[in-house]
Amino acid sequence: MENKEIRFASRPAGMPTDGNFTIVDTDVPQPNDGEVLVRTLYISVDPYLRGRMREGRSYVPPFEVGQVIESGAVGEVVESSSPKFQPGDIVTGMFGWRLYNAAKAEGLMKVPPGAPISTALGVLGMPGLTSYFGLLDIGQPKEGETVVVSGAAGAVGMTVCQIAKIKGCRTVGIAGSDAKNQYLRDELGVDVTINYKNPGVSEALAEACPKRIDVYFDNVGGEVSDAVMPLLNQGARIVICGQISLYNLNKPDVGPRPHPYLLVNSALMKGFIIKQYAARFGEGVTQLAQWLAAGKLKYAENVVAGFENTPQAFIGLFTGENLGKQIVKVAER
Ligand code: NDP
Repeated sequence: MENKEIRFASRPAGMPTDGNFTIVDTDVPQPNDGEVLVRTLYISVDPYLRGRMREGRSYVPPFEVGQVIESGAVGEVVESSSPKFQPGDIVTGMFGWRLYNAAKAEGLMKVPPGAPISTALGVLGMPGLTSYFGLLDIGQPKEGETVVVSGAAGAVGMTVCQIAKIKGCRTVGIAGSDAKNQYLRDELGVDVTINYKNPGVSEALAEACPKRIDVYFDNVGGEVSDAVMPLLNQGARIVICGQISLYNLNKPDVGPRPHPYLLVNSALMKGFIIKQYAARFGEGVTQLAQWLAAGKLKYAENVVAGFENTPQAFIGLFTGENLGKQIVKVAER
């Protein structure tokens, strides 16, 4: 068995490039007591990894230059020194970007049978839970209200759009291509979509939201969010989930200040990190799986083939290459 790993070679300045990563041949590790050896099948690439490539204080420590990048992954146990897992088990957890990882059994979960195993990284994993708790707990959408979702055709956004529809809301999705927007309307039942790369986003939003905006689920920040603020309703809730339009900026971006809109509308703006809901993940996964099985929830994945292409798949998040969850298929099951 041969092993490879992808290391963090240098901190990106602006958009990450291939040069920020190196692929290195390495040995297959031996699992210690309480560990398992896992063969990687799928790797999740996520926008928050860009934050870990920057120095400074955040909710997770930054990657050190030279270390192996880590993210969520799904793999197969090939050797076990833990009573918790047997060879052949399919598990998910945080792993190094490697073909084979030795991992502590306590940090891993079995992927339940039913849905395809890659969904453990998407609709039934961290992004799905982010949509569920962010929208329902902070956004608190009520029937008949208008919900606007930015980054609407991504992993988090498309699940938010569908939960908003399940809750009986008028749903407006904002995404960066006509093809993505068509998918949102035709496949997911989103009421109106806006391509933020076209001119006239503010006018299009005003037209799409004749009763103004009750919930804004923000995945992107920047100018898209600036266009939302003047349209808030009394008592609006703004869920700050992500700010991807800012992640590659070298200097902080100062836009229009939102405070007057929050003040006059008695509106709430709240950020969150999904880990805060860890105690309720079981509830979230159960509900998402039920909606999925009932056909009320759909998902899309953009599957990039080949371990070596993991850095490119990650970079592709910032050029909008993905419809739905961006994942790398490393090996056949
Ligand atoms: P996505 O699947 O949504 O992929 C990223 C998408 O962002 C791209 O497809 C692209 O779509 C869009 N995008 C990229 N650059 C820009 C830009 N400059 N302006 C506007 N849109 C842009 O990723 P996720 O669903 O995994 O994550 C979505 C957001 O949620 C991210 O901001 C992420 O950081 C955040 N997040 C937060 C969590 C939390 O705990 N708070 C947990 C998980 C995710 P397009 O073609 O439309 O431009």
